[in-house]
Amino acid sequence: MSSRAFSIEFFPPRTPEGIEKLRETRRQLAELGPKFFSVTFGAGGSTRDRTLETVLEIQAAGLAAAPHLSCIGSTRDNIREILETYRAHGIRHVVALRGDLPSGMAAPGEFRYANELVAFIRQETGDWFDIEVAAYPETHPQARNYREDLLNFKRKVEAGANAAITQYFFNADAYFNFVDDCAREGITAPIVPGIMPISNFSQLARFSATCGAEIPRWLTRKMESYLDDSESIRAFGLDFVTAMCEKLLAGGAPGLHFYALNQAGLTSAIWRRLGL
Ligand code: FAD
Repeated sequence: MSSRAFSIEFFPPRTPEGIEKLRETRRQLAELGPKFFSVTFGAGGSTRDRTLETVLEIQAAGLAAAPHLSCIGSTRDNIREILETYRAHGIRHVVALRGDLPSGMAAPGEFRYANELVAFIRQETGDWFDIEVAAYPETHPQARNYREDLLNFKRKVEAGANAAITQYFFNADAYFNFVDDCAREGITAPIVPGIMPISNFSQLARFSATCGAEIPRWLTRKMESYLDDSESIRAFGLDFVTAMCEKLLAGGAPGLHFYALNQAGLTSAIWRRLGL
């Protein structure tokens, strides 16, 4: 169990209240002893400074932090500068992504895909960074097909990624199938399932439709039957996600990465139920 990596993801807060709330969340979640906290990076560099500030605050509290870095809309010089800043602050772990071009931003920049970013990070900084990349057990929504997406994932690993974190899913078999196919392709990098705790189900359903995460029909119907009973949604969501995590770990998942959405409650409840 101890060699498995359990990590938690935040997004950089926008307001002074959000900053204060995240401090409290971080204090609570730090007690669980995650391997690292990661911090997302807004499309086109829109949260560049806030991502850095959030990461530095986590680091200053004596905790390991990994900034996300997305490359779409950026130049090589932009990315080089960000990497230099992280290096100067002693940050040795990044999550390298393509990102999505914000609507209205026309120029894709100098990188087209995340494998190019991974190769660039390795070229510029050698082995300084541990690099995580994204993986999609249910296929990235823009991919031509499952197999091409799998091979595109392989490109990121071959470019130098050390490990991967998956998009969230609610079907453990999708993960196991993907991991088996990766093994057949000779991919040995650990693929850590991304876990989305369920709180606001209708919001989650809308978001899942855009990012290509399937919510099983029975789960949607059951959640809908609770209507506005947020306590029941939360309680059943907790049971369901905890059971899926148990299944993932029993099936050999090399850890779990929690999309905490800057809230401590559900992540720590699942964590404690799992006895991590
Ligand atoms: P890629 O790996 O580049 O893949 C994108 C698409 O292009 C896929 O369909 C793939 O099949 C295809 N493709 C890849 N390489 C090639 C190639 N060489 N030739 C042809 N086709 C190719 N977004 C943010 O903006 N900020 C974040 O902080 C952030 N964090 C995330 C963390 C995790 C763990 C995950 C799973 C996603 C995160 N995202 C984030 C979302 C992510 O940026 C989007 O899903 C984005 O659409 C794809 O990014 P990627 O790095 O997976 O892209």
